[in-house]
Amino acid sequence: MAGMHPIPYLLRRRPAGRAPTPQHGRPEGSAQPPSALVAAGGAPPHPAARARERGGEGVTIFEGDSRSTPSLARPLRRHVAAGRKERIPVGTGGEATKVWGHPPLTKVLASFFGKLLGQEMDPLKNVLVTVGAYGALFTAFQALVDEGDEVIITEPFFDCYEPLTLMAGGHPVFMPLKLSPSNNGELDSSSNWHLDPTELASKFTSRTKVLILHTANNPLGKVFSKAELELVASLCQQHDMVCISDEVYQWLVFDGNQHISITSLPGMWERTLTIGSAGKTFSATGWKVGWALSPDHLMKHLKIVHQNSVFHCPTQTQAAVAWSFEREQQHFGEPSSCFVQLPEATQHKRDHMVHSLQSVGLRPIISQGSYFLVTDISDFKSKMPDLPGAEDEAYDSRFIKWMIKNKGLMAMPVSVFYSVPHQKLFDHYIRFCFVKDEATLQAMDEKLQKWKAELTP
Ligand code: PMP
Repeated sequence: MAGMHPIPYLLRRRPAGRAPTPQHGRPEGSAQPPSALVAAGGAPPHPAARARERGGEGVTIFEGDSRSTPSLARPLRRHVAAGRKERIPVGTGGEATKVWGHPPLTKVLASFFGKLLGQEMDPLKNVLVTVGAYGALFTAFQALVDEGDEVIITEPFFDCYEPLTLMAGGHPVFMPLKLSPSNNGELDSSSNWHLDPTELASKFTSRTKVLILHTANNPLGKVFSKAELELVASLCQQHDMVCISDEVYQWLVFDGNQHISITSLPGMWERTLTIGSAGKTFSATGWKVGWALSPDHLMKHLKIVHQNSVFHCPTQTQAAVAWSFEREQQHFGEPSSCFVQLPEATQHKRDHMVHSLQSVGLRPIISQGSYFLVTDISDFKSKMPDLPGAEDEAYDSRFIKWMIKNKGLMAMPVSVFYSVPHQKLFDHYIRFCFVKDEATLQAMDEKLQKWKAELTP
């Protein structure tokens, strides 16, 4: 495009036999494993997961609990069941499909997102179907990040971004969101966390290759504003960078907030890779279908990685996702649309959990989107600072172990969503997942009420 720098997408060859550099970017002499590797399974499992393995009586309200996560809201379940019947008769779908994605799915993704983003898309050139959004993220980092490239990651961040950068030989550069607390005693919102323009600009160097954005953010649920996205867009253009935009919670945005895809901003399609997930879009996390959308000059590098690792994804779930999008195309914007019903139903669950947590003196941060509710535990930190645990163990992690043992409730420590140097500064938050079935939410209520009764003198 006229007046613009070339896109730095070239896939450079890594020196033969070079192993990933897992300690890259860490303070020297740091004995602690990268936080992200802890959460990603490279180190001892998370305390909540360990407790669940032991088969306790607790209520699991962190994400990775398939037993209590509603697989589909009822209306969606009906649509998907109908889709299965219409599109995937028993005995078919067992054949391999095309390497870049099952044709009905790539076709509908190109037409659906093409209309939504105001960008003409070619199913063969601009769409890649992957094994979940995780697959798209892995493929993107391997394809676009090379030895020594810097990757800007806003904090708190979805925990795999750091190891994905390191595995590709890149160098993570962290950019913490700043909190401007509410002064009026009201609960904070995830919108109180924002990007500092001067600090963000200072993170860009001649080695910066990629900025990874995620809106709505996991764990905070922050939905980036148009002004923030415009700031990111202008810096990406000024420094000729690629933006990987993780938008898996695109349809899970509440209170009338608007999800904006950065690729739809002027000059951004050319340098953005947008990632989505059928798991989050249709509340079908077990299907593990994801996708990447981008211009061909970026996509061709992802295709090399995908063709030589996964090749093609399972046909049947792709056919079901294709049917679901075809249906959405017909119902778009109407009350019968999943994309209207799903955020409404999910917001109801969020509100339920907000009220329950407040009743025991916890201070949830109202999330604008996603599955999650981050909760401030500073009051507990000042009242009971000496919870058992290792000397260097973050307070939030010790608090969760205490909560599991004494209150039968599980959550995630938020410090694991930060880089090691910043973990101590953010060890007074825990993350709950509110996308749970009614029975689980009620069990949580009972445990919280019991907790409240114990607090009353
Ligand atoms: N990105 C974010 C921000 C997520 O929270 C998740 C799942 N927790 C993913 C990507 C991965 O999505 P999928 O289940 O489709 O692989």
